[in-house]
Amino acid sequence: MDDLLNRTRAAVWHPCTQMKQLEASPPLAIARGEGAWLVDPEGRRYLDAISSWWVNLFGHCNPRINAAITDQLGRIEHVMLAGATHAPVVELSERLATLTGLGHAFYGSDGASATEIALKMSAHYWRNSGQPEKNGFISLKNGYHGETVGALSVTDIPLFKSTYAALLRHTVQVPTPDARLAEPGESGEAYALRCADALEAHLAEHAADTAAFIVEPLVQGAAGMAMYHPAYLTRVRELCTRYQVHLIVDEIAVGFGRTGTLFAFEQAPPLSLAESGIKTVRPDFICLSKGITGGYLPLSAVLTTDDVYAAFYGDATARGFLHSHSYTGNPLACRAALAVLDIFENDAVIAANRVKAQDFTDILAEVSAHTRVRHFRHLGMIWAFDVVDAKPGFAARFHRAALAQGVFMRPIGNTVYAMPPYVTSADEMRGLAGAIQACLDDPGI
Ligand SMILES: *Cc1c(COP(=O)(O)O)cnc(C)c1O
Repeated sequence: MDDLLNRTRAAVWHPCTQMKQLEASPPLAIARGEGAWLVDPEGRRYLDAISSWWVNLFGHCNPRINAAITDQLGRIEHVMLAGATHAPVVELSERLATLTGLGHAFYGSDGASATEIALKMSAHYWRNSGQPEKNGFISLKNGYHGETVGALSVTDIPLFKSTYAALLRHTVQVPTPDARLAEPGESGEAYALRCADALEAHLAEHAADTAAFIVEPLVQGAAGMAMYHPAYLTRVRELCTRYQVHLIVDEIAVGFGRTGTLFAFEQAPPLSLAESGIKTVRPDFICLSKGITGGYLPLSAVLTTDDVYAAFYGDATARGFLHSHSYTGNPLACRAALAVLDIFENDAVIAANRVKAQDFTDILAEVSAHTRVRHFRHLGMIWAFDVVDAKPGFAARFHRAALAQGVFMRPIGNTVYAMPPYVTSADEMRGLAGAIQACLDDPGI
């Protein structure tokens, strides 16, 4: 195993990692996985409490997803999607359209590419509609939409962004509705609506050169699982409609059941706009990735409205959407995604998770009452809290201490969170709660 760690240090450049720190804090070598567990070459087991960076839904080596991919391997592993098509991509597109209310699925390979696609499509829509000056973007303070150059332009995490500032396009950040920032005595809802007013003030002046507002619905993951009131989404839908700016909903982290509904935007209270006819909140673009394949294969999708699609439809090639990736609509990834949708349907996962989430919240009651814990929060299958007395290096120390307890976690700053696979049992959750408790009880962490 030491050999593998030496070789990874020499040959692999790990993501979001100061490689020098790998000397003191080597990566966990994983030989196999099973349900919610990761297993190292010596057979030690670690509970994957953060679903391998939020991608895993139904456990590692899930027999049903394995079977779907294996079956697809015997048919066609990949064919380019320009000039060809195949059943898995067609079926997946049809099913995502039924589930989201948006269609015309355009595929990429990861979350950041979905953000790029949505931004380009939005600006190109306005160009095709005779308003090329509408090409600016608005995002939330502390928002995260990926780290390629275009996506990083709408991301607002200083650690990821400031070094590359010179490469980025100027975008505007509006206040985050993060409920922790409410004034004393102010409800999370009142605070969220106050933040929406700030968006309106910006739109009132700048809508003419703004293409879209991009937002993580209900939870800003990379900001440290910042949660906010769903009324914000309804209000921004109304504002985007009024000011003719696209609403891009980035469901990359929270889609596929994480927040308790299949998609987070579904929790937005109905629109009050009488004239629109449609009452439910519907984005202009939805970005999906991460859980879409159950954490098996890289795949992302952007879905949009008939109106956006129609603006690209015509005789001129340059009026069409000019974007492609070699692995667009990869059949193996699409089959994994179809198997994931089958599991949601056949096992009534959303309803089952509702019960499970309540049990898990009860199991975490003692953790939530710990003296070092502030802002304990929960939504669907996400639990998070901030550690009040966290000293520099807290996240790394907590990570190592949790590993010693048989749990794989990576706090974000002073925020500890659990985002377990949906197959996690109450017993496994009790083990996780005990491990977190033990880490918090150690004043050296
Ligand atoms: C992870 C994430 C992305 C980027 O996805 P990658 O696959 O890592 O490029 C974009 N938006 C949100 C909300 C995310 O959590």
